[in-house]
Amino acid sequence: MVQGVGFRPFVYRLAMQHALTGWVQNTNENVRIRISGSSADIALFLEALKEEAPPASMIEAITVQETAPEPFTAFTIKHSHNLSDDITEISPDIAVCSDCLEDIEKKGNRLDYAFVNCTNCGPRFTIIQDLPYDRAKTTMQSFPMCSDCQKEYEHILDRRFHAQPTACAVCGPQYELFIKGERISGEIGEIVTRTTNLIGKEGILLIKGLGGMHLACDAFSETAVEKLRRIKKRDGKPFAVMFRDMESLKRYATVDNTEEQSLQSWRRPIVLLANQAPEGHVPEGHAPEGHVPERHAPEHLVLNINAALSLIGVMLPYMPFHHLLFRQLKTDAIVLTSGNFSNEPILIDNEQALKQFSSCTDAIVLHNRDIFNRTDDSVVRIIGGKERILRRSRGYVPAPVRTTLNTDGILAFGAELTNCFCIGKGKKAFLSQHIGDLQGYETTRFYEQTIAQFLKLFRVKPTVLAVDMHPEYLSTKTAEQYGALPVVRVQHHHAHIASCMAEHRIDEKVIGVAFDGTGFGDDGHIWGSEFLVCDLNDYTRFTHFEYIPLPGGDLAAEEPWRMAVSVLYKVYGKEFTNLGLSLFNEIDPEKITLLVQMIDRNINCPLTCGAGRLFDAVASLLGLCQVASFQAEGPMRLESLASGDMINDYPFELNQTIRFDSTIRAIVDDLQNCIPVKIIASKFHNTIISVIFECASAIRNTEGIDKVVLSGGVFQNKYLLEGTIARLNAHDFEVYTHVTVPTNDGGIALGQLAIASKRRDLICV
Ligand code: ZN
Ligand code: ZN
Ligand code: FE
Repeated sequence: MVQGVGFRPFVYRLAMQHALTGWVQNTNENVRIRISGSSADIALFLEALKEEAPPASMIEAITVQETAPEPFTAFTIKHSHNLSDDITEISPDIAVCSDCLEDIEKKGNRLDYAFVNCTNCGPRFTIIQDLPYDRAKTTMQSFPMCSDCQKEYEHILDRRFHAQPTACAVCGPQYELFIKGERISGEIGEIVTRTTNLIGKEGILLIKGLGGMHLACDAFSETAVEKLRRIKKRDGKPFAVMFRDMESLKRYATVDNTEEQSLQSWRRPIVLLANQAPEGHVPEGHAPEGHVPERHAPEHLVLNINAALSLIGVMLPYMPFHHLLFRQLKTDAIVLTSGNFSNEPILIDNEQALKQFSSCTDAIVLHNRDIFNRTDDSVVRIIGGKERILRRSRGYVPAPVRTTLNTDGILAFGAELTNCFCIGKGKKAFLSQHIGDLQGYETTRFYEQTIAQFLKLFRVKPTVLAVDMHPEYLSTKTAEQYGALPVVRVQHHHAHIASCMAEHRIDEKVIGVAFDGTGFGDDGHIWGSEFLVCDLNDYTRFTHFEYIPLPGGDLAAEEPWRMAVSVLYKVYGKEFTNLGLSLFNEIDPEKITLLVQMIDRNINCPLTCGAGRLFDAVASLLGLCQVASFQAEGPMRLESLASGDMINDYPFELNQTIRFDSTIRAIVDDLQNCIPVKIIASKFHNTIISVIFECASAIRNTEGIDKVVLSGGVFQNKYLLEGTIARLNAHDFEVYTHVTVPTNDGGIALGQLAIASKRRDLICV
């Protein structure tokens, strides 16, 4: 990855430093460097090439060849050269660098200038309209460079040499402040002062960012957070929080080295952290001047932001404007959540922002640099010592996934919820940014537009379409708009496993374990606890959890008590209401009676074996979540309680399918014996780990396969994934899990693409 990250100027400067002559040239396949000089200097040059490369660049391999000497007199940058019709890659957006942050402290054209950037940082993907990447094909085209910026842009030793979005206060974009729809100011100092004052007074602001708008408020103000929740018109879904810096963050969350690396990387994702303050820590003593300590106790943050979950989504400032804000903000942390209403994509349009948010916010901060490619903040979690991407967007997209397959011309449409689509160019798979849940007009439009933009940007003309087998998925229906192209229909869980295989370049038979909430099965039931023996072409279903009724269909995923009733009724029959569980105090008995009737008469009770639903049922039994206020709340609360101190598990039965009757009986016994829910939650997780181990072992015995591929949303569970990896590794399985591609449905499209590629090869379309 060398495009738009200042790689050639870096090579040039390095050659100068080491007194080398020759040239450097970008091609769309690699970078070629010809150097001439003493062997000692060349050795140093090669060393530095690896060590000092620009942060956002990525060197896969360096190949060195000796050639006959040529009489170079200088070192030059040659024009780019296209070796084939292959596209050049586009850099994701890069957080503002420390040099640029110094520039905004200095007198001159960039003092307090919030759009400062250079070849090492700034917007990329979000502003690119077309290739090749130069200013005229970005949303910076409407800002002609002033003569000072032009000089830097043309000067090869300048940090802004060929920095396409370069700008200064004289020539570049500007912020504007609106209150109640009225333009109040265009002066950055005043905007920052007013904005920070409003945040200090528990106000709610809409602020335009890099890939979309954010809603912001003081993360420590209960009033403000409540107000924000009302504006977002939804649920108790946890809000992400931006902290001033690492130091203040560590007062509220436990951060290990890998987590710190992710937080401070140029990609600046939201990192999910455990939010217990370090042992014995007294936050007040460390609070900077001006703090009101009693409002800043850690438990307040916990309470407001994520409603007592043990996870907190945290990020550090990544735009110059964020840094300007924190210079004046008294609070250490602000909520920074996507500016949209529930189920709509993150807002990017200025006029729409004013129309929708003027009356419900205290102020709106906009700027006049258009966002072309909408991106949300990305979300990662460190599991098993590795950064796992759960929502892949800003800072990660549009970097391709490099496969070993011919993916050329394949357009894969993805799943219905947490959608990303994927297009193939050569062997590269371009997975789109997080699109969201394909429900409602706005998201659907975003989906269709982004597909069109990707096809144009990467010069792909689709020849094969890959879709989910589910006949009612909107993604599947969208494919119909692409005319009479061959369509490959892919089973959801096969796609999950293929996605992980493609990520790790595996092309052979594996044991696939796909655990999620919902996916359409080829028997017409809802699948989601699949043990597959599969390759990239086909699969056989080895075993799965026993089917149970899902009373109310989709509604059951939102109301875990329904699954609990379904499970209890199956195990205990009508007597289950006498078990004295807390669930019966929380749910109206009449509703429970009605649900049992639904099951008896088979009204709206599709069969499911989704692992997520079993987690729901147990979360409900333990009284953790009866009605979910956000997706997967039950399983997340259950995971919050699991701890590694407990190694016991519950019994279960492996026959044709995997049965949990004895598991449920043991859990109910534990509840009746007042065993702490923490212990029950841990034992339940351990049971699922044992199930995976036992089934994988059974498959290894009959099929002789050692490679186990884990995929599906359930593996976002840190306790479960780490425990499963450890158990399988201890018994000499080779375990593959998602790292750079989401394990949830955001990764499905890559799997669809891989399967379509394989099937196309086999039938030679
Ligand atoms: Zn910079
Ligand atoms: Zn300028
Ligand atoms: Fe799924």
